[in-house]
Amino acid sequence: MTPVAAFDRSGVELSPTESDPPDLERSPIDLLDARRQVADLAERALAPFRCRCCGEPLSRLVADLGMQPLSNAFPSADQALATEPFHPLRALVCDACGLVQTQQVESADHIFTSDYPYFSSTSGPWLEHARRYADASIERFGLDASSRVVEVASNDGYLLRWFRERGIPSLGIEPTAGTALAAEALGIEVVQAFFGAQLARRLREQGVVADLMPANNVVAHVPDLLDFVEGFRILLAPRGVATFEFHHLLNLLNHRQFDTIYHEHFYYHSLTTFMRILASRGLAVFDVEELPTHGGSLRVYAQPAATGRHPRSVRVIELLAREHDAGLLEPATWRSFDDACRRMKRGMLSFLIDAKNEGRSIAACGAAAKGNTLLNYGGVRTDFIDYVVDDTPSKQGRLLPGTHIPVVGAGRLAETRPDYLVILPWNWRDEFVRRFADIRDWGGRFVVLTPQVEVF
Ligand SMILES: [Zn+2]
Repeated sequence: MTPVAAFDRSGVELSPTESDPPDLERSPIDLLDARRQVADLAERALAPFRCRCCGEPLSRLVADLGMQPLSNAFPSADQALATEPFHPLRALVCDACGLVQTQQVESADHIFTSDYPYFSSTSGPWLEHARRYADASIERFGLDASSRVVEVASNDGYLLRWFRERGIPSLGIEPTAGTALAAEALGIEVVQAFFGAQLARRLREQGVVADLMPANNVVAHVPDLLDFVEGFRILLAPRGVATFEFHHLLNLLNHRQFDTIYHEHFYYHSLTTFMRILASRGLAVFDVEELPTHGGSLRVYAQPAATGRHPRSVRVIELLAREHDAGLLEPATWRSFDDACRRMKRGMLSFLIDAKNEGRSIAACGAAAKGNTLLNYGGVRTDFIDYVVDDTPSKQGRLLPGTHIPVVGAGRLAETRPDYLVILPWNWRDEFVRRFADIRDWGGRFVVLTPQVEVF
């Protein structure tokens, strides 16, 4: 048989020995060498990827979660036999600027389509969180009928409704048609578009100037973050304030929250990295709060660096120091994270295999994105979990992406009486335990699978 020529990445033809199939009878030293070569190959596979913010090459792995479907693409029952796209899901950290980010997957960059089904107002605790923010910021920043609030990613009006109720003019910016319509039904004015410098300039030309610009749970999802931040600089009044809420990288690290990694989530910010990004576009951070939402979030307050008048809070300095002490910017910190993910996977599978071998039935609750990362990483399908209950009408009757576990209404629990109920979005653990307390009537028990298996 004519051997096929092999080439290295620079196009140089390899000698026949380099392209030969591996010899299966090799010494331990050869095997170590082979493993090193595999590791080198994995590193080199990352080489062409560059940091989305500073442009430096990315080569340091945080976690490799295998091939995964988009975590919010729920197939309908009649799509069950169709081919489903899977993409590599890897988080990397930039050695130059410290920003943790998912490896760029071209086809995953256009995810927030007009039928993206998430409605914030269906979550009671989130609505209450929004009301408290509105009350506090109206007081702190002295907002009244002459002010204007512009919310970026205003979703279904879960936040602006509270400003509107207090008589403060507000404008929402939201690309998703279904949620924008829901906000308009509450009487909130919405521009249906993606936010960035271009839209900000257009609004500014129309006379829109913002005294307060909230942006909650969106900065992780914007492909061009620098352009997005530039939009805030353009639209803010000289004394205006922007606030950003996002999941805090320190919690991802400390609590091994690897299942918060998914394709739709491009960035994992610390205060340190986010402050640098804001500063590069003329915005200065003056305060920060730590919130319990989404497994530990930050709310960052920023103002135009040249004209803002709020003094910098000591909380900013303290949190920067804590991030530094935790080694968030040290490459060594991330080296053990991928190993920890693999250990968690083995622990999860051991529990599930033992439970099934003992003849137990298992259901789950909460069809959220983080559950999908976890289940696909573990290869957990209906062979382990019979169904997942979720209140969102647009998800019911559909299948979880990749694993095809059916999503059903909560009534199924009483009909089937599962032995275990796995809480997938662990950040809503207390709410689910209260909500489904009835499973105790038939001896059912709750389970959380990460960061280690807990049965209670
Ligand atoms: Zn970078």
